[in-house]
Amino acid sequence: MPRYITVTSLLNKTKKRDHWFLDDYTINPYSGCAFNCLYCYIRGSKYGINLAEKLSVKENALAILRRQLAARARKQQQGVVVLSSVTDAYLPLEEKEMLTRGILELLLEYRFPVHIITKSPLVLRDLDLLQRINENALLPPDMAEYRHKAFITFSFSTIDPVTCKQFEPGAPDPAERLLAMKACATAGMMTGVSLMPLLPFITDVPEQLARMYAAFHEHGARYVFPASITLWGDTAADSKQLILQAIQQYYPQLLDSYQRLFANSAGVPAAYHAALQEAAAREAARYGLPARIPFE
Ligand code: SF4
Repeated sequence: MPRYITVTSLLNKTKKRDHWFLDDYTINPYSGCAFNCLYCYIRGSKYGINLAEKLSVKENALAILRRQLAARARKQQQGVVVLSSVTDAYLPLEEKEMLTRGILELLLEYRFPVHIITKSPLVLRDLDLLQRINENALLPPDMAEYRHKAFITFSFSTIDPVTCKQFEPGAPDPAERLLAMKACATAGMMTGVSLMPLLPFITDVPEQLARMYAAFHEHGARYVFPASITLWGDTAADSKQLILQAIQQYYPQLLDSYQRLFANSAGVPAAYHAALQEAAAREAARYGLPARIPFE
């Protein structure tokens, strides 16, 4: 059972817009995440090993958000709202709670553009609202080249169902995500993929990249953001320990390589990063899938 909590703020203003996510604001309707990805960057002592156990619903979210959006709209400070940055806006409990749907209704009313980043096909329930936001939102002046005002990004680290269960144990099957992306594209929405984190020697190898880019293209993606993994922390709840445990359990032949790769840094070495970006760029060029959201 989730906890119900009250918050004093829901709309977070970001310091700087990220070139992938275009965020001016972020909103997280929930705290914690039932999808429980081992690599999740919110991991650490705050949430414990099972992120789903600390799941909380922000029960006063809509009242707070209305005040915050109204104040920003009065000053004509509409900007892209990312849903979500430290949870998934379409967790299974959203089906009953309808908090994300309520948030979208407010974004539509106050004319804020939105960028959904999700692993869940439940986003299709709200396509009606997303289409209306896409038509009616006001983009910030420095985004005037963009034709769309609602963006729907599906998050993948793999399209293989077995690898998914190993590293994203609570998340929807990748095949369902692909079909949901196709449905968004068919509905005329700007949709694509956050391909992160790619798992060294498992999902970032050339044949896997080729399979994934082909599938994304086939299912209507217009862009793909590829990135490798960052691992940190020494406690049992930290991503580095959880990923190394999973490697030991499912890919013991790769354990030494992982330990070497992350011996001196949380990220992969610069040369590894450059080779991966080059390999991803080759696949991206094959299908015309830029690593940024296109203007139209
Ligand atoms: S879906 Fe996102 S927020 Fe949820 S556990 Fe996975 S990476 Fe973390």
